[in-house]
Amino acid sequence: MKPDLFEAPDYYNLDDLLTEEHKLIRDTARAWVKRDVSPIIEDAAQKAEFPKSIIPGLAEIGAFGPYIPEEYGGAGLDQISYGLIMQEIERGDSGVRSTASVQSSLVMYPIWKYGSEEQRKKFLPKLASGEFMGSFGLTEPDHGSNPGGMVTNFKDKGDHYLLNGAKLWISNSPFCDVAVVWAKNEEGRIHGLIVERGMEGFSTPETHNKWSLRASATGELIFQDVKVPKENLLPNKSGLGAPLGCLDSARFGIAWGAIGAAMDCYDTALRYAKERIQFGKPIAAFQLQQKKLAEMITEITKAQLLALRLGQLKNEDRATSAQISMAKRNNVDMAIKIAREARQILGGMGITGEYSIMRHMMNLESVITYEGTHDIHLLITGLDITGENAFK
Ligand SMILES: Cc1cc2nc3c(=O)[nH]c(=O)nc-3n(C[C@H](O)[C@H](O)[C@H](O)COP(=O)(O)OP(=O)(O)OC[C@H]3O[C@@H](n4cnc5c(N)ncnc54)[C@H](O)[C@@H]3O)c2cc1C
Repeated sequence: MKPDLFEAPDYYNLDDLLTEEHKLIRDTARAWVKRDVSPIIEDAAQKAEFPKSIIPGLAEIGAFGPYIPEEYGGAGLDQISYGLIMQEIERGDSGVRSTASVQSSLVMYPIWKYGSEEQRKKFLPKLASGEFMGSFGLTEPDHGSNPGGMVTNFKDKGDHYLLNGAKLWISNSPFCDVAVVWAKNEEGRIHGLIVERGMEGFSTPETHNKWSLRASATGELIFQDVKVPKENLLPNKSGLGAPLGCLDSARFGIAWGAIGAAMDCYDTALRYAKERIQFGKPIAAFQLQQKKLAEMITEITKAQLLALRLGQLKNEDRATSAQISMAKRNNVDMAIKIAREARQILGGMGITGEYSIMRHMMNLESVITYEGTHDIHLLITGLDITGENAFK
């Protein structure tokens, strides 16, 4: 793969709106991605392996629990810092960002928000340091966009719960130490349970042959009469709103992360267009290529503004789920379109692993589907503005 020459676009001087701390956090993550992710990521994606060697680095830049309080091992940062870290990681690879998102927003967040003090103390510091890796089990083979229909269930057996069912498409599952699993009790109410590797009847087979997020491990979570200790039930929130609260946090991170992937594609295409000579001049001098590049930087700038404002709202605890949906949908769509256009600017070189664009493009096919599909987020906006539910 080519050396990482990335220079971040900031067309509207948005750095002026960041604090010195934001910039330091962002630049630290950016430097780490250049040094430790870019040189190995293409190979990892080609081999379809999650590069476990980067786990300590992810912990060091604060990617595991950026906003989780320091007393639990988190970085205690604000939401804009969290967004900036996700942006930089996804600039490297969406699969690596997925691992960090799951660990932070889908595993640490529910333990912090819905867990007991004992659960927080037992799990959060180890998740923050990367000693433990986590996964989040919501999606099932027959329940994707409609998770409320889940059939995974647990029964009260006096001194423990008996868990049965299966989850599909679970990031980090093949190597997770703990899984936050959503299941229905005997009354049909959804609860979160912390399932630990080694519990009898719990297995995590890997899903192979993905053309997308190849550097992120995806798999199943299978529960066959798993005895889960009662102290592993998350006590402080139940119902579908509990997992959806986690998804709000993860989708916020994706809205920022997708900007990173788009910035990398734009920056690569711009550099290539200035250097590639055809018909005696750089292809950047042709109007058709300029149109592509000009539209890319316009869309990136709009997405940056959307994410930054959402970060401000989130810092004030005022961001609604529907606002987060809009940003996730818009920014991932923006990124995937930019990846497709950028790929064309590189001509035949664009399809090789010499450049990051094709990998970003394929990764974004998952990002546009997971954490609520592109269509589902549109319906969320539709419901929010009309009051009419078009889901069913
Ligand atoms: C790589 C990867 C990693 C993932 N990681 C995780 C994870 O860690 N944990 C987890 O729990 N899940 C995870 N997922 C699952 C992901 O969230 C689901 O794939 C997603 O929610 C969509 O569900 P589905 O694939 O079953 O599609 P479906 O729900 O079957 O949807 C298929 C199509 O129908 C459309 N559709 C569905 N309902 C409606 C409707 N009411 N109106 C209009 N159109 C509709 C959808 O928009 C979509 O286009 C992951 C998925 C992928 C691909």
